[in-house]
Amino acid sequence: MTEFNTKLVHQPVQHDNNTGAVTVPIYKATTFKYPAVGAQVKDDYSRSGNPTRRAVEEQLATLEEGNYGFCFSSGMAAIHAALAIFKKGDHLIVGDQIYGGTFRLLHEFFKRWGLTITAVDTRDLSAIEKAIQPNTKAIYFEPVTNPLLQVSSISRVSQLAHQYNLLTIVDNTFLSPYLLRPLNLGADIVIHSATKYLSGHSDISAGAVVVRDQSLAERVYFIQNALGAVLSPEDSNELARGIKTLGIRLERQMENVKRIIHYLQESNAVQKIYYPGLADLPGYQELRKEARGAGGVFSFELTEQVNPSEFVNHLQLFKLAVSLGAVESLVELPSKMSHAELTLEEQLAAGIKPGLIRMSVGIEDYRDQIIDIQQALEKAHN
Ligand SMILES: *Cc1c(COP(=O)(O)O)cnc(C)c1O
Repeated sequence: MTEFNTKLVHQPVQHDNNTGAVTVPIYKATTFKYPAVGAQVKDDYSRSGNPTRRAVEEQLATLEEGNYGFCFSSGMAAIHAALAIFKKGDHLIVGDQIYGGTFRLLHEFFKRWGLTITAVDTRDLSAIEKAIQPNTKAIYFEPVTNPLLQVSSISRVSQLAHQYNLLTIVDNTFLSPYLLRPLNLGADIVIHSATKYLSGHSDISAGAVVVRDQSLAERVYFIQNALGAVLSPEDSNELARGIKTLGIRLERQMENVKRIIHYLQESNAVQKIYYPGLADLPGYQELRKEARGAGGVFSFELTEQVNPSEFVNHLQLFKLAVSLGAVESLVELPSKMSHAELTLEEQLAAGIKPGLIRMSVGIEDYRDQIIDIQQALEKAHN
């Protein structure tokens, strides 16, 4: 079983209680009986290990081509666990366009722990190298950033990291293992907000960490068990179900993105498009070396004749909402929504103009998506 879509549906192979059930049951038990004092049991307490959670953890480890998976109650809980393997005095280099919640966790929580942080543009290897200090322990970044979809090379960053004995930590939320497998490119730790593409239906909060190395796995497991922000059995089941359709969802979403971008390019209503999945757009050459596609999120700036707030307010099929990666189409204005915590100066320094629009394209029919965009453009034209 080597083809990815087959793996999505069938891995890991489950043999449960000899019932013949083709899906893993939701084990709600919080405690598990010992046959005798001192006996070795697979599970004794659900925070430490739960069969339903383990099934999806193994599923994710297999898909990311790692050896150990860990599931958490949110993406932030997963990131917290992965970063809590470090200690006071350690220094981390992080991408300067990482997810806002991760930035907040680093600057307002881990700083109090005594971690120090340098933010750099991880597309620039010399900037990373310049930031390395004697106490630097890891480089943390997103290979495709939000909302500008800037592309950093995992193999080049991890090569540099290994030269200096640093860990490479990659948040793979945007592309998912269907399109990108960071561990194969040299990364040591892969992180997901499984709230997004992996679950895919905007109905659970979940996070994951996947590693290959056993000693790293022990460090992450210690924190998962010690802090206890584990994924519930019910949500583990929903995540496992969502993952099975990851491939067909993303194929449709990427096809829809391409149709919409072609429409926008011909509409004369758009100044600039950010999507590294098309040959005529920036980032394409870099991304295609490592990933099978650019996913279902893209951003754009309208021309001055079209009011961006009016445009998003008039969309109907595209719901005005943060988050991304699910079956339904969403739209947002990063400057006023997902990135509103940044000051205008910080937004502009990060390249986020007030009129930037981000779309997370769903699996609807592209004709309906385009009709919706067309009517909103007409109403927002001044
Ligand atoms: C959403 C997101 C997170 C945080 O995940 P939650 O599930 O919301 O806690 C982290 N990284 C990226 C890239 C995200 O998009």
